[in-house]
Amino acid sequence: MSVDERVPVLVVGAGLAGSSAAVFLGLHGVPSLVVERHAGTSAQPKARGQSWHAMEALRIAGVHERVRDAGYDVDAGMPIVIAQSVAGPVLHEIVGEAWPDWSHLTREEMGMASQEKTEPILLERARDLGAQVRFSTRLDTLEQDVDGVRARLADLSTGSEYTVHADYVVAADGRRSPLRHELGIGVHGRGPLGHSVAVQFEADLGDLVRGREFALFYLQNNPTLADGATLVSTDRPDRWVLMVPFDPDAGESADDFTEDRLIACVRAGVGVSTLPVRVLDATPTTIAHQVADQFTCGRVHLIGDAAHTMPPHGGQGGSTAIMDGFYLAWKLAAVVHGWAGPGLLSSHDTERRPYGALIAGQQYTNMVMRSNPELADGTEDAPVSPEELLFGYRYPDGAIVPEQGDDGARLEDPATAAGRPGSRAPHVWLPDGRSTMDLFGRGFVLLTAAHRWITAAQEIAVRLGVPLHAEHLPVGDWTARYGVTPNGASLIRPDRFVAWRAHDEASASELESALRTILAR
Ligand SMILES: Cc1cc2nc3c(=O)[nH]c(=O)nc-3n(C[C@H](O)[C@H](O)[C@H](O)COP(=O)(O)OP(=O)(O)OC[C@H]3O[C@@H](n4cnc5c(N)ncnc54)[C@H](O)[C@@H]3O)c2cc1C
Repeated sequence: MSVDERVPVLVVGAGLAGSSAAVFLGLHGVPSLVVERHAGTSAQPKARGQSWHAMEALRIAGVHERVRDAGYDVDAGMPIVIAQSVAGPVLHEIVGEAWPDWSHLTREEMGMASQEKTEPILLERARDLGAQVRFSTRLDTLEQDVDGVRARLADLSTGSEYTVHADYVVAADGRRSPLRHELGIGVHGRGPLGHSVAVQFEADLGDLVRGREFALFYLQNNPTLADGATLVSTDRPDRWVLMVPFDPDAGESADDFTEDRLIACVRAGVGVSTLPVRVLDATPTTIAHQVADQFTCGRVHLIGDAAHTMPPHGGQGGSTAIMDGFYLAWKLAAVVHGWAGPGLLSSHDTERRPYGALIAGQQYTNMVMRSNPELADGTEDAPVSPEELLFGYRYPDGAIVPEQGDDGARLEDPATAAGRPGSRAPHVWLPDGRSTMDLFGRGFVLLTAAHRWITAAQEIAVRLGVPLHAEHLPVGDWTARYGVTPNGASLIRPDRFVAWRAHDEASASELESALRTILAR
C-alpha cells in the first residue's frame, strides 16, 4: 500500500469513545485523525448521563460546563421506577428523587447530557485541540508492522479511496467493531441479550410524571409489552424514548413495527389508551454483554463498546467510553512524544480489560434485577457498590510501582482508601480552595510537603524529558489521605492514578527508577 497521508494516531469512530480519545490526545499535544463512516454524530438521545468520574475528566478537557449545561438540571435527580406502566402500579423504586451525596469523593456532580448533545461538544473541542474529523469516511482494511499501521480509507461522499499511515490506531468503532473482527480478536460474555425498537415520541404525560419529567421506567408485567420494555426521558419533558422488545427467534423483526403498532405500544407503556402520541423515529437496537479477549493488538487499541459492550442498565456505557479515551490518550501521547517506551501501551489491556469485564458484569446484574428477572440463574456477578465501581477501582498491576504487601485488590472503599499505588488519587480540599483533583490531568505530578523533592523532580523531569511537575502543599488532610509523611511524596499519573509513593524520606533515584518502570524505559 503506498501512503497518501501520515498521522500519529488514527481514531476510527466518532462516538463517545473516539471523540473522547481525540480530545485527550489533543490535550496531550497529539493531533489525531478521526474517521466516522456516518455523515454526522448520533441523533439518538440515548447514553444519557456522565458519571462523576467522567465529569472530572471532562473538567480536565475544559468542557464539563458545556456538557453539564447541555443536560437537564442535575439537582432534580433521576428516579428509576419499576412499574407495570407509567400510570402504575409501581412495583419498586430504585433511586430516589436526589443524587447520592458523594462530595467527600469528588468535587463534581453528575452530568445529564445525552449522547446526541455530548458528541458534538467533544468533537468541537477535539478540533480546537488539533484533531481532524472526517465524516462519511470508512476504514476498510488495515495492515500493521514494526513501522506503523497502513489504513485504507474510503471517502463515502466521493467514492475515492486513500491510504493513511498512522503510528497507532484507536479502534472506537462500536459494538460490532469491524476492526476487532479484522484483527481476529474474539469476544466473551453472554452475547446478544435482547432486540428492541427504540421509539422516540412526543407526548404530554402531564400529571402522570409531574415532578418526574426526567425519569427511567422499567416496565414489568405489562399486558402488551414484553418484560424488558423501558421508557426513558430525554432532554425535553415532552419527548420520551420507549424501548419495545421483540423476539427474532419467534419470527419477529423491527420491520413489523408500523407506526400504528408503535403508538399502541407507547400507549400501553404509558398506561393511557387514548394518549395523543407523535412518533418521531424508530431505531432497531441490540442489547448485549460482551468483552473483547484483548484490548490491544500490536499498534491497535480497542476502547468503548468495541472493547466492552454492556446492557444499558446502570448507564455506564457512555461514561466508560469517555473514560477509556481519557485513560488511553496520555499513554499514546507519551509514546508518540518519546518520553515513554512502547511497552507502556500494554498497560491499556492490563488496566482496562478487567475494568471492562467488571462494569459490563455489573450492568448485566442490574439488567436481571431491574428489568429481566427471568434471566436470573445465579451466575450473575454480585452487585458492587456504585462508589467502589466509580471511585474505588484499582489497577494493582498496570503502569504503576506496586508496594510490597499490596493485596492486589481491584476494588476498595474510596472513602477509606489510603493512596496506594494503583488507586485513584483521592479528592481532598486544599486550604486555598482547590481540590487535589484540580492539580492533575496533563503530565505527572509529584505531591509533597517537603521542599527537597521539588528540585529532585525538576532534575529528573529534565533528565528523562518527562512532563513532571512537583506540587508543594502544606502538611494537611491530603498527607493523611495520600498516606505520606511530611517527608514523603506521592507520584500521580496524568489520569489521576497513584503511580508510586514514598511514605517517608526516600532518595531521588527511587523516584527516577519508579518513573522508568512506569514508562517502560
Ligand atoms: C438502548 C441503549 C441505551 C443506552 N443508554 C445509555 C445510557 O443511558 N447511559 C450510558 O452511559 N450509556 C448508554 N448506552 C450505551 C452507550 O450508548 C454506548 O456505550 C456508547 O455510546 C458507546 O460509545 P462508542 O463510541 O464506544 O460506540 P458507538 O457510539 O457505537 O460509536 C462507534 C462509531 O464507530 C463508527 N464506525 C464503525 N465502524 C467504522 C469504520 N469501519 N469506519 C469508520 N467509522 C466506523 C460507527 O459509525 C459509530 O459512529 C446505551 C446503549 C443502548 C443500546
